[in-house]
Parts: sequence; structure tokens; C-alpha cells
Amino acid sequence: MNNYCDFYTPEEWKKVLDFSENLETPCQIILSDVIRKNFIQLKNSLPYARIFYAVKANPAPEVIRMLNELGANFDVASVYELRRVLGLGVSPDRISYGNTIKKSEDIREFYEAGIRLYVSDSEADLRNIAKAAPGSKVFIRLLTEGVLTADWPLSRKFGCQADMIYDLLILAQKLGLEPYGISFHVGSQQRDIPAWQAAIAKVKNLYDALKNDAGITLKAINMGGGFPARYVEKNNPAEVYAAEITRYLHEDFGETLPEIIIEPGRSLVGDSGVLVTEVVLIARKSRTALERWVYTDAGLFNGMMETMNESIKYPLYTPKKGVSEKVIIAGPTCDSVDTMYENFQYELPLNLSIGDRLYWLSTGAYTSSYCSVEFNGFPPMKTYVI
Ligand SMILES: *Cc1c(COP(=O)(O)O)cnc(C)c1O
Repeated sequence: MNNYCDFYTPEEWKKVLDFSENLETPCQIILSDVIRKNFIQLKNSLPYARIFYAVKANPAPEVIRMLNELGANFDVASVYELRRVLGLGVSPDRISYGNTIKKSEDIREFYEAGIRLYVSDSEADLRNIAKAAPGSKVFIRLLTEGVLTADWPLSRKFGCQADMIYDLLILAQKLGLEPYGISFHVGSQQRDIPAWQAAIAKVKNLYDALKNDAGITLKAINMGGGFPARYVEKNNPAEVYAAEITRYLHEDFGETLPEIIIEPGRSLVGDSGVLVTEVVLIARKSRTALERWVYTDAGLFNGMMETMNESIKYPLYTPKKGVSEKVIIAGPTCDSVDTMYENFQYELPLNLSIGDRLYWLSTGAYTSSYCSVEFNGFPPMKTYVI
């Protein structure tokens, strides 16, 4: 239903096919050159921003190593990610602890490793940071409302309202921390660019209020991630996002911008990946059923978690040609949650057979990192970075 050439060059596609030909499925093939290209393009389109790669999107060691060499910084979510990133030679001054939900002993481990950049959104966490990581820089995270326009929203659970941000930044100073700035995340795969405009305007108001009423001059804005990868549904190219966001920043902050941080995950690694799967079974539920069920060896528990509620619609490619009809696509496990697409109109050829390969395109982000360890005994899929 999708053609690979909408996403990859013929050379890239040949590399994927050649490399995966004799591999066991499901597996993930990552084209490292695509990540390199995405990183350089992002850097050029937002030259004033420091890029912190959100490690959770794809924590493959080869990906971290390459981005480290390209000069990226890293936003990590746990001590486990921290140990991996440090173990690969990333220097602690290029790491931030962006998860607002953390144990006190974990903050201590970060501090002892040399990390001095933290994000918080609650008083209890802020007090923990002040104790376990004294003197560090803190961002307070703003609650955003990207729920309706982001395909994978991250709001509600994270961030706090503007008046609380104001209080917490004052408290941070009292506790001996450095009130460094305000962070937000407009929701992952955010297709509505004005979502950034609304968040930046709120940040500007807070900047002014803190300066005028509390004498605190903030230094930075952390705009999080949210930049989209290319999937089935259309979105604006990265350059359009960059140009618009730059315009919003200058409208509010004038010529000289504060330090700007971004934390892209999906947009850096999403379109670098191909998930190679095999058809396990094709079935109809009655003699007259119009729709076939196509079961593949990858599902929600081994790579395709973001198909939950059909949120992310990955492009699907089959080398088989011929008359196609609507199918329901499900994973291999004994759980009916493990059904990827029932409502969205995926079509596959009538001559598709058991054992045929299916390729999910643009699956470099939030796939391998979302695999269960052994649900139904299935191991997490392997990642190959080429
Ligand atoms: C997940 C996450 C990101 C990455 O978001 P994308 O939408 O994948 O770019 C960035 N920052 C924080 C704090 C996150 O939790």
C-alpha cells in the first residue's frame, strides 16, 4: 500500500534488503546515514539550539556513539540509560536528566556522575534535587495542551501550571539551585506547529514575571521534542517547523534569544528504521467474512507499541503486487490488545501468503525500546545498525 521509494532511495532500500535477506524476523534495520543526515539538517535549520537527543527513542549503542561523535548532547530518562550513555564515552556535561519522575537515590547517582542539568515539575522532586544534586541547574516543565493534535501526546502526566512554575523557580533559588529555565514538550509527533507558539508565549510571560516581580533572570528555554517523523499521514517538512519556531521565538524574545535547547527523539531516528516482519497466518473469521486477518511476527509487545489506539500509522510495504483488499493486522501473541490496525484502511494483496515478508517503514523510533522482555516467550527483536 505504500511504496518504499516514498521513504528511501533505491540504494538505501537495496542495503536494507541485502542485509536482512537471511536474518530471522522480526528485526529492525537502522540506516545510520539517515540519522546522520537528520541530525545535520536539524542543526543547520536551528543553528542557535543545543540538541539533546532523547535516548529513549532508540538507545542502540551504535546510534548513541554516532550522535556523540556528531556533537550531540543527550537527554536521559533513568540511571540505566545514564550508565549506558556514560559507558559509551559521553561526557557528563553533555547529559541532562529530563525525567520529572525520579527516585532520590537516582538523582544522587546522576550527581555523582557529574550531571548538573535537571528537569522538575513538582515541589517534592525539586527538594530531592536540591538535596541530592546541590547547586545544579533546573528547568521547571510547563504543562502543555497538545493532546488533540499530537499523535502520541505527553501532556497531563508531565509539567505544571504557570503559577506553580513561578513558585517552583523561586523555591529553586531558595534551595540553592540555579533556576535555569522553563521546559515544555508539545506532544510527540506534533503535527500542529502553532502548538509551539502557544507554549513559547506562556514561557515569555513567565520570564517577564520572574524578572520583574522576583528578580530572577532565567537563562534558557528547553523546547523538548515533538518534531514529527514521516509516517502515513502528511506533515510539514522539518525546515518549515524550524522556520516557524524561530519566528515565534523572535516575536516574543526579540533579537537576542535565551539559550535554546531541543530534545528531539522521533524526528532524528524515526525514518532511519525498517522493521522486517513475516506473515505468520492469514485467516477469515467466517465463510462470508470480507476482511482477512493478517497476523505478523511483530506486534504491540515486540516493536509496535505505538500502534496502540492506532496512534502511529506506519507505512507498510510488501513486495507482492496484485489486487489488494482491506485487512486487519495483528501481532503474534495470545492477547487481543496485540492488534495493530483494525479501523485504519490498510490493504494487502490477495495473493499475500504465509511466510511472506512485510516491511514496516519509518520504524526507527520507539520500537526496539518498547519491546517486552518475554511476553509469551517472544524475545525482544534484534536491532542492526548499518
Ligand atoms: C520523549 C521525550 C522527548 C522526545 O520526544 P520526541 O517527540 O520523540 O521528539 C524529549 N524530551 C522529553 C522530556 C521526553 O520525555
